[in-house]
Amino acid sequence: MIKYLIVILISSLVSLNITGGYSGDPGEVYAIKLNQDEDVSSHLIIEKDGIRFAIVALPYNKQGGFIKFYDKNIFINNKDFGESRITIKNTSMVNLSPEDSIRASKESKIIRDALQTFSTQYKSNLNFSNPVEGIISSRYGKKRFINESPRSPHLALDIAAPEGTKVIAPEEGKVILVGDFFYSGNYLILDHGYGLLSSYSHLSKINVSMNQLIEKGEKIGEVGSTGRVTGPHLHWSVYLDNTRINPESIIKDNFLESIL
Ligand SMILES: [Zn+2]
Repeated sequence: MIKYLIVILISSLVSLNITGGYSGDPGEVYAIKLNQDEDVSSHLIIEKDGIRFAIVALPYNKQGGFIKFYDKNIFINNKDFGESRITIKNTSMVNLSPEDSIRASKESKIIRDALQTFSTQYKSNLNFSNPVEGIISSRYGKKRFINESPRSPHLALDIAAPEGTKVIAPEEGKVILVGDFFYSGNYLILDHGYGLLSSYSHLSKINVSMNQLIEKGEKIGEVGSTGRVTGPHLHWSVYLDNTRINPESIIKDNFLESIL
């Protein structure tokens, strides 16, 4: 028994020591207090009472490991997000024809390229609004099975709402991609600056155009069921430095205050 307690004590000391105090859940963001001299111009920096904080995304796929931010190591906790099993009856949306497969891979490159965008026109304070009134139908992080076969985890938030429900911009930004895509249907990406972006899938209608500047709260489209879906919903993704973070976290009241 005593031996067991000593092992626990030592292992907790070791884990404290190796994490150096920095740790967080996958899909969340971590605010790292910066020294005056650190040049972090390529990151989202938020200032409070004269102190600068770098906002760092904690990737889902680094659970149980560390990410490095300058001289700091941040440990990503392991977290069980549960799973979701869906059935898609239209098998041509699951087992793609050669044409669809070529189309889907071309589109995924276009999307990946757009998500590399880094601009400085806007700077978010990370207090996003909810983009649509509805019911959460699938949360961030769920392990996904389509027709019983395992797929990539669901790193977005699904909000179910009737077709035609208004979707608004949760934060100001610029439209950097808009179009009709195989998986995402009518789809658009907003750039909120400093590596923070958000995307909106399966829309029945898009109300904005390429390069348009959008205010927070402005209507950008309507909920639909275009692309690969089981019913009308908004599939909403939020990216920071190309890492998909949990959209549900940043719509919480006083989110920014809670992490500083
Ligand atoms: Zn989804």
